[in-house]
Amino acid sequence: MRRSVGLKGGILLVAALAASALALYAQRIPRPGFNLFSKEQDIQLGKEGAAEIEKQINLVDNREVNEYIERIGRRLSSAPEADNYPYSFKVVFDDSINAFALPGGPTYVHTGLILAAENEAQLAGVIAHEISHVALRHGTNQASKANLIGLGAILGGSLAGGSLSGQLAQLGIGFGANSVLLKFSRSAERDADILGARIMNHAGYNPIEMARFFEKLEAETGRRSGVAEFFSSHPNPGNRMKRVEEEIRFLPKRTYDADTGQLARIQAILKGLPPPPKKEAPKAQAGPASAPRVEPSGKLREFQGREFALSYPDNWQAYPDRNSAAVTFAPQGGIVSNGQVGLGVIANLRASSGRMDLERATASLIEELKRSNPSLRETGRSRRASVDGRPALVATLESDSPFGGRETDLLVAVEHPRGLLYVVFVAPLDQYPAHQPTFERMLSSLRLAR
Ligand SMILES: [Zn+2]
Repeated sequence: MRRSVGLKGGILLVAALAASALALYAQRIPRPGFNLFSKEQDIQLGKEGAAEIEKQINLVDNREVNEYIERIGRRLSSAPEADNYPYSFKVVFDDSINAFALPGGPTYVHTGLILAAENEAQLAGVIAHEISHVALRHGTNQASKANLIGLGAILGGSLAGGSLSGQLAQLGIGFGANSVLLKFSRSAERDADILGARIMNHAGYNPIEMARFFEKLEAETGRRSGVAEFFSSHPNPGNRMKRVEEEIRFLPKRTYDADTGQLARIQAILKGLPPPPKKEAPKAQAGPASAPRVEPSGKLREFQGREFALSYPDNWQAYPDRNSAAVTFAPQGGIVSNGQVGLGVIANLRASSGRMDLERATASLIEELKRSNPSLRETGRSRRASVDGRPALVATLESDSPFGGRETDLLVAVEHPRGLLYVVFVAPLDQYPAHQPTFERMLSSLRLAR
């Protein structure tokens, strides 16, 4: 009796351990991280990006090659882990060993990569890895984490007109070299390997071939041309073989019978294709973007923040910061790459407690601004003023404009019950006079929270 109870307890314990191993395993499946984009916005962005990119690359126009890649791609993307995005698979005429996928599904494989694969599972492995970046939404996850001023407003749909990719380009988010959307972190690489292994297993390809191929390419970097490109946007997370081997142990057993046996034939076709017509390299943007020439609307609307209220032209946009009292007001195109304001108004509260010396607090703020922007300098003495019945200082500053040339930065610092409230009015030097009446109306609308 005692023994059998003991035995039963042992079985229960084993069952419990197995269940907890399963639970642990369930937690190990990579999931998409923090994201401000909706899945639909991933898809829209990828579509727009694909249309742009396809103007600059040569796609292979061979039915047999295209059907081959599409067949492998469809087989992989029908795995539940691929999360049902509208995937497409195309072959780029390019010797470098590379592949990439845009948010929402458009996936591209270079001819160089197809030629470098030793078997179909290796080729499928790279595609499965790319599918995993799409399903895990790594590109827009990284863009979301960059926390750029204005991203929330764009994604919230409050900016009318223009394509999503066009609006994101104004924040410096595009598909060019070193794009935040296409250059991944090591942890994203690790997750794409793990999910990619699951996708391969589901499709009937041996997942170890993905890790083997990546390790082989990594070993050849430096000795072989055209490999470095892939690893510059997909940095090696290390231990790929070991991690995928561990993953395979957890996966349902399958026979790996997906190989169509056609790789050698496809490689022969690719080798026989005539070189593609030369496409003109995409023109580097000639100089910085130019300042928008939209007249500010005469009508103002009010922004009500925690620490202050301020009115701004109703054809401008307000971009409140999620984590502070800071707000940026700008017309479309007024914010340039990486959130730099070239035309607009920035307001913020520099919190402090106790009695404030307005002159000293303003001088220290200007020093701080100079540290973050070495091109900033004062162009005259600051003068006393009164804003909403409170003492204020006005300083005229100048700095390099993101539109090229110099800009005026008129700084108004006001004593606020909880610190120094400051508002910076920004416009290119030559356009400042035209915006001054608007800036003055905005300043006279400023009301401090008491
Ligand atoms: Zn990757």
